[in-house]
Amino acid sequence: MKEILLKTENLSKSFSNGGAMQHVLKNIDLQLFRGDFTVIMGASGAGKSTLLYALSGMDTPTLGTITFGEKVISDLSPDGLAVFRREHCGFVFQQIYLIDSMSIMDNVLAAGLLVNRNKKALVEQARAYHNTSPVITAALGRLLTGGVMMGAMMKGEKDLLTIKVEGDGPMGGMTVTADSKGNVKGYAFHPEIMLPPNEKGKLDVGGALGIGVLTVIKDMGMKEPYVGQTILVTGEIAEDLTYYFATSEQTPSSVALGVLMNRENTVRQAGGFILQMMPGVSEEVVSGLEKRLSEIVSVTALLDEGRTPEEILKYVLGDLDLEILDRMPVRFFCNCCKERIEKALVSVGRQELQQMIDEGKTIEVNCHFCGRHYPVTVEELKGLLLQAR
Ligand SMILES: [Zn+2]
Repeated sequence: MKEILLKTENLSKSFSNGGAMQHVLKNIDLQLFRGDFTVIMGASGAGKSTLLYALSGMDTPTLGTITFGEKVISDLSPDGLAVFRREHCGFVFQQIYLIDSMSIMDNVLAAGLLVNRNKKALVEQARAYHNTSPVITAALGRLLTGGVMMGAMMKGEKDLLTIKVEGDGPMGGMTVTADSKGNVKGYAFHPEIMLPPNEKGKLDVGGALGIGVLTVIKDMGMKEPYVGQTILVTGEIAEDLTYYFATSEQTPSSVALGVLMNRENTVRQAGGFILQMMPGVSEEVVSGLEKRLSEIVSVTALLDEGRTPEEILKYVLGDLDLEILDRMPVRFFCNCCKERIEKALVSVGRQELQQMIDEGKTIEVNCHFCGRHYPVTVEELKGLLLQAR
């Protein structure tokens, strides 16, 4: 029997409309089960949004109860609801709500930083971060490799690329951020996960990620960032990025990524390539390349043979004339700093900050990307409170 995750009993929501009561939700009994994907449909004005607001703890019902797991969330205080939303809900709004003063990456990070306010969790996270399991090292290594190449494909000096993959598998997901100059950083949500090999005897990256979505955010200094989203095809990353290029950017591409591990769980080789067709390329070239690509066993094997990037390109492109236009060193680089952490704290709002101040203790915020700790004293928190809205 399936586990009930979210349940409503007699849920009602009414608004007073110039003295007359308007009943938007009336006596709704609903059960949602763990692992289900549920769609709510209805005519405009039927109360879909009101129902979702109530279920997600963004609004409180007039009557009735909402239970999440064992917890009756309809009884929670506004603060309790905030914690519930932060820990259990993900939101995709029709309108993108981002904090203007923060970069896209900081927007993505803000909520995650707060969930890990607990110091024990912080230390544990840092320990785990520096000791990812083999399957997570492979997963993160592939996404970092893809990310640093896609970052380098951006034109602007200050352009920033964020790739986020999220799935229902045990890893939860990963976030990678790259600039156009070869700097990249990233982290996995659950870096300690171990899985048995897949049926091919390989590290089961797809199994660790599960069913989910890939989101690419390009912050190119425009008012709105570019956001492209596709489903995960295999969760093995390279196929997912290939699919993303085809559907979201309408650019037929071939993405190959490989991470090769030593026995003691250290990285021996990591690399990859992205091939894209220029407009107007002849059928002959396309079919030749497709044939060539289908013959390549894996990029990991090419790396293991000790081939340089130039040699791999020559191998993949065969007798097509290869001309190297540029070379760029790449590195894992985290640009976190105290100021950035403070900005994220300011953005959480007065109520949360006041709560931290009331606890009377120095809090510690850590950077997901590099594990660095940032202590913030009560005095500093008071200063941040003045800047918060
Ligand atoms: Zn950092």
